[in-house]
Amino acid sequence: MRKKLIAGNWKMNKTINEALLFVNQLIPLVKDTDAEVVICPTSLCLSDVARAVTNTNIKIGAQNMYYKESGAFTGEISPRSLTEIGIEYVILGHSERRQYFKESNDDVNKKVISALNIGLMPILCVGETLEERASGKAFDIINKQMSECLQGIESLRLDGLVIAYEPIWAIGTGKTATKEDANEIIAYIRKLISEKLGGSIAENIRILYGGSVKSSNIKELMEMSDIDGALVGGASLDSVEFSEIVKY
Ligand code: PEP
Repeated sequence: MRKKLIAGNWKMNKTINEALLFVNQLIPLVKDTDAEVVICPTSLCLSDVARAVTNTNIKIGAQNMYYKESGAFTGEISPRSLTEIGIEYVILGHSERRQYFKESNDDVNKKVISALNIGLMPILCVGETLEERASGKAFDIINKQMSECLQGIESLRLDGLVIAYEPIWAIGTGKTATKEDANEIIAYIRKLISEKLGGSIAENIRILYGGSVKSSNIKELMEMSDIDGALVGGASLDSVEFSEIVKY
């Protein structure tokens, strides 16, 4: 049985003080939930937020990292500095990083390998654009992203790997994929994982849906057979709304 995972991606929102206020509100609201709760603040907030959730059921993820351990890479975030402060997850290949910072599948692949090697659990994002969906290419695009981003990971420890299916046209737009469409692509992702990494990993891996998830649509999405949780952007910025999503 896969444990549901609800992760909040704050993107470039909240200062350290705002982040601390948020977590102090969220802690009591989600303390009895059955789902795994992850929040992904900006990199500058990670350390303070990680300290604030010590001994609670809230886990912390980064929104990005570089694939090298250390070195002359000005402005980048080292995976080792994340594990040192207790960060457990890292979002990789988010469509905003692909679109605005030109991250390729190859870049994402290096980061996935680096994260798995150091013991960070990647939340690997894949998803198609509206044009790709309209021209019937959604499955091909997902197939390409999955195979290129997960190249060469067969021999690594994969227990922590999480995939997030995020159709780009549904992110921050208020448009959600229908629960049937989301489940169909997520089932397809599970089939790809099974072919590449074997049935037991496919059965256990958690695959999330992301794209305009809110407290009003989470329940129907979570009822679908293959959807194991959600990556939530805008609606994760309000502690009460986010707690309602967690407790759907
Ligand atoms: C996201 O940023 O991953 C996301 C799904 O955003 P939103 O929920 O705002 O669509």
